[in-house]
Amino acid sequence: MKKNPIPTDQPGWGVYGKLAQDNQRFLWGILDDLARNTSGRNPDQQKIGDYFAACMDESVVDKLGAAPLKPYLDQIHGLTSKSQLPALLAQFHSQTEGSGMFFGFGSNQDYGDSTQVIAFATAGGLGLPDRDYYTKSDAKSLELRQKYLSHVQRMFELLGDAPDAAQREAVSIMAMETALAKASLTRVERREPHNLYHKVDLTQMQALSPSFDWTVYLKEAGLGQQNTFNVTEPAFYKELDHQLQTASLDDIKNYLRWHTVHSAAAFLSSDFVNEDFDFFSKTLRGVPQLRPRWKRCVGLVDRQLGEALGEEFVSRTFSPEMKQKTQTMTSQIEQAMANDIEQLTWMGPETKQNALTKLHSIVNKIGYPDKWRDYTSVVISSHDFAGNVERATVFESKRRLNKIGQPVDRGEWSMTPPTVNAYYNSRMNDINFPAGVLQPPLYDPKMDDAPNYGNTGGTIGHELTHGFDDQGRKFDAQGNLKDWWTAQDNQNFESRAQCVVEQYAQYVVVDDIKINSKLTEGEDIADLGGLILAWMAWKDQTKNTHLENRAGLTPEQRFFVGNAQWACENDRPENLRMNAITDPHSPGKYRVNGLVVNLPEFEKAFACKPGQPMVKENRCRIW
Ligand SMILES: [Zn+2]
Repeated sequence: MKKNPIPTDQPGWGVYGKLAQDNQRFLWGILDDLARNTSGRNPDQQKIGDYFAACMDESVVDKLGAAPLKPYLDQIHGLTSKSQLPALLAQFHSQTEGSGMFFGFGSNQDYGDSTQVIAFATAGGLGLPDRDYYTKSDAKSLELRQKYLSHVQRMFELLGDAPDAAQREAVSIMAMETALAKASLTRVERREPHNLYHKVDLTQMQALSPSFDWTVYLKEAGLGQQNTFNVTEPAFYKELDHQLQTASLDDIKNYLRWHTVHSAAAFLSSDFVNEDFDFFSKTLRGVPQLRPRWKRCVGLVDRQLGEALGEEFVSRTFSPEMKQKTQTMTSQIEQAMANDIEQLTWMGPETKQNALTKLHSIVNKIGYPDKWRDYTSVVISSHDFAGNVERATVFESKRRLNKIGQPVDRGEWSMTPPTVNAYYNSRMNDINFPAGVLQPPLYDPKMDDAPNYGNTGGTIGHELTHGFDDQGRKFDAQGNLKDWWTAQDNQNFESRAQCVVEQYAQYVVVDDIKINSKLTEGEDIADLGGLILAWMAWKDQTKNTHLENRAGLTPEQRFFVGNAQWACENDRPENLRMNAITDPHSPGKYRVNGLVVNLPEFEKAFACKPGQPMVKENRCRIW
């Protein structure tokens, strides 16, 4: 940690962030080449090369100023009645990312029947990163809300509003967002899938928000025939309706203007980019400097045309040997989990059988998708950055909405191949390891097994354990939200999970803020289970081998050092403060220290004595 200070353009710095930056630098080379050498490019290479070229042409972007927003602002200006809002929102939702404008609307697998994709209407409408920013009353939260108000005001001034008008507009937006925030579930409440499952028909949805004409919205979104919806947070929609009824048309227009400029700030001229950075990165996360433009542009290509870029990435970096090695390690860790389940003392035979069925149904996706996304319909030009962003955004929105009523595509990935991360999806019941995460120093083919199992093995075990964490365990082998636990086993799980919740609740994140361990519960359980499973798999893999000490460490010590290097990181205090609210993962320090205190194997490997800091009296153990 001492040798790796945080770079000035980063909120924190660890192995994952460093590797992500290395990948970005590598992709920069590919994109720069495709942007300059335009002959002989295939259609996907044309798109990513020209997107990157247009994004990098900062002088053109700066000359345009806020001009790319004009069509949107004109439409907002032209609103003469609230009844025109549904049609406008359907269009704006498809042209902007996320759920910033009043609410979110998309598609997902039905919790009750994972073979079906249905429409999802979600809570949204906020500018700050979480509803807690609006509701907390401590001094720091009050200060951040003041700074947010000033930021919204300055953005309006950049659009040409007079300062006093801009200030009034910011105040009215704060009031509306605060009302929506108060009606939104907390992150902890949102972790519980039952809280987010409210299947309704059009009549029922219309009853939740009578003043918003859903028929018009759906028709404009191309979903006129739909009659099945999951409204994740009905109480939110009631409050949304209240806001739409009581707010003036001018307030609504200002709210729309704010979210239009907010969602597009990164694609506009430097004054918008800098103001956006100043609040969302510098103030909220403590980052001193804006990332250089090339990093932002590489990031945007990855976000908007990620599988076209990913194809270039994997053809240069990911070998069949790597895929094979990961597959082997994954099946070893699955085997370790099967053995572990069979030997559990707290789970009865009936639940064990269901757990094993679920375990054996988990699909392993490694490296990149079998079938690449087809970007044929996205028009990309080398001199129209804002237009490229909009067309790629509309493509993605339509792609998501088009899935409604279609069979689930189980080959789909929700991370791009260069991503340095991995995930488990409870409705797909699959684990996904992008090529970007299967690289040194996380997985290093030149190293011995001990650090590789401690590091990448731990990650594989982590994703697998997510299928059996406090929320993942509520989904069955097919990915349906369906209870497969006996009452007794359910109770045994809960009391063991409570041990983890109580352990992490004592750890300090920064200043006087402790871990919200009901938020991090699933990740903490996955971390612990992952390391234990990786240890078992490593022991099994090397059982007939004589292992030697290296670099002054025993093989067992090297296993734990490998694991520690996975989450070793430095963080800015502001970023820790934000993560304490928004991040379901514990800070890196406790993702390591919080695990090993539960493992007698660690105590033995480092000859720890009772009473020393890394020896815990009541160890937690679930899986
Ligand atoms: Zn996780």
